Amino acid sequence: MEFFEDALNKTKEVFGTVSQKTGEVIATEKQRFELATVKSKREKDYKALGKIYYGIIKDDASAPEAAKALAESITAKNAEIERLNAEIANAKYKRVCENCGASIDKNSVFCNFCGAKLDNDGE
Ligand SMILES: [Zn+2]
Repeated sequence: MEFFEDALNKTKEVFGTVSQKTGEVIATEKQRFELATVKSKREKDYKALGKIYYGIIKDDASAPEAAKALAESITAKNAEIERLNAEIANAKYKRVCENCGASIDKNSVFCNFCGAKLDNDGE
């Protein structure tokens, strides 16, 4: 009888430890998730702060060198984005003349460079 009681107590001990371990793992996973969430929110704050700071220092010669370099890089990318957007907007309303290769308005009937009559079906 004593043997069975001992065995039962041992079993309870083992399962108690296991469930405690499981609880710890769940708590740790919850903390990891919380950590990732807080880090992600902090990245958003950094980004927003960066945009505000960019507006403040982009034309400020006395700004720290590292910040000025990043601001110049952003300004250059803004110009590139503007150029690409303009190209995309233009491409929507342009077509290439099959005769001379010139870029012309999509709805033109004749090419205004070589005068070729344009095929307008299928558009
Ligand atoms: Zn043409």
